[in-house]
Amino acid sequence: MTGSNSTNAELFEAARRVIPGGVNSPVRAFGSVGGTPYFVARAEGPYVFDVEGRRYLDFVQSYGAIILGHAHPAVTEAVAKAAADGTSYGAPTRREVLLAERIAEAATGVEQVRLVSSGTEATMTAVRLARGYTGRSRIVKFAGCYHGHADALLAAGGSGVATLGLSGSAGVPPSGVADTVVAPYNEVPELDDRVAAVIVEPVAANMGVVPPVPGFLEGLRAACDESGALLIFDEVITGFRLCRGGAAERFGVTPDISCFGKVIGGGLPIGALGARSEIMQTLAPTGAVYQAGTLSGNPLATAAGLAALEQLTPAAYAELEARAGQFADGLRAALTRSGFDAAVVQVGTLVGLYCGSVVEPGWVPADYDDARTTDERAYARLHAELLRRGVAFAPGAYEAVFVSLAHTLDVIDETLTDIATAASAASQA
Ligand SMILES: *Cc1c(COP(=O)(O)O)cnc(C)c1O
Repeated sequence: MTGSNSTNAELFEAARRVIPGGVNSPVRAFGSVGGTPYFVARAEGPYVFDVEGRRYLDFVQSYGAIILGHAHPAVTEAVAKAAADGTSYGAPTRREVLLAERIAEAATGVEQVRLVSSGTEATMTAVRLARGYTGRSRIVKFAGCYHGHADALLAAGGSGVATLGLSGSAGVPPSGVADTVVAPYNEVPELDDRVAAVIVEPVAANMGVVPPVPGFLEGLRAACDESGALLIFDEVITGFRLCRGGAAERFGVTPDISCFGKVIGGGLPIGALGARSEIMQTLAPTGAVYQAGTLSGNPLATAAGLAALEQLTPAAYAELEARAGQFADGLRAALTRSGFDAAVVQVGTLVGLYCGSVVEPGWVPADYDDARTTDERAYARLHAELLRRGVAFAPGAYEAVFVSLAHTLDVIDETLTDIATAASAASQA
């Protein structure tokens, strides 16, 4: 059943017996789009190949963890070399220092960095740090922003939480979110002296892609300064993807604490948080806010991350943004031409897609209510028609459409034809 010749369907059936829903992260189960998930055998550049030998042009790119394309030689060689020297020590290494230095150089407001093993750990620690540093309890987050699955941040989340139609999660007691206040995105909330931190995705990329309106991030900065709350930018997607300095650089607003993940691990499990030294020193062992991790700063993850970041020159970002622009414009045109109602939003290197007759091609959502007008069933039809033609969009209507540096203009052009055909079929269904 799970032999080397197993089909996607056979593997999914076997998976569902031993893994809840057959997957290790809910969105992968195809619950909201229907159909059987493809089981990946290998990937290369812009493509993934499933166990049945089918090739897909991949716009999932590990939900943004991959930016150079799959199996980039610089990354795979660095990982192989690192692995030969051992996979985890429980003692500090040189590459942890190098990666922390790279992050501190790139991110404004970051003097010190703590490496963890996921984006969830980064935001969870950032919240604890903000509470410990300020001596306050309350956290303000924005509806539709996803910050991983720590209890306190699982209220009105985007991404898979949105797809499942959950406002939060069972298993999170009221006390777990009692100090979490949810505000609408793109509106500056009023803060009082109970607020430890405001956490925000500076470009919201887990409810499609919602840009910050002019003044929003600046307004948050001012409100935090006035009330003594810390401003946390969750740059787990935007960090090292919009540009070297992430959204903080692009929008010229400096947060107190920055969270990273995805790109900085080159596809291996990693997360990081950074801030000015005075704040970071509040973490153990120098301070009283406890945080630790057996695999934190893992030698393979730091090797992969350093190798990836080394490729990400200013020219690489300019190129990626040009490709994203080409893709966004082409996608918008292809969908319109095919009579498929949709809006395509582009913010720098990020692309978001909203489906349905309520949206116009140039429409830009401002908040979660707007984003949720997307027609999830229309997206599901498009997703299935695309997959049939060897184009993999994420199996969830609220995920960004990720373009990598391996998506050449030729590859993009070629796929736009398939997208147009898929969209025609989807709009007739
Ligand atoms: C993916 C994501 C997280 C969670 O990171 P994991 O590595 O999946 O735990 C947190 N915040 C944002 C903005 C994300 O996109």
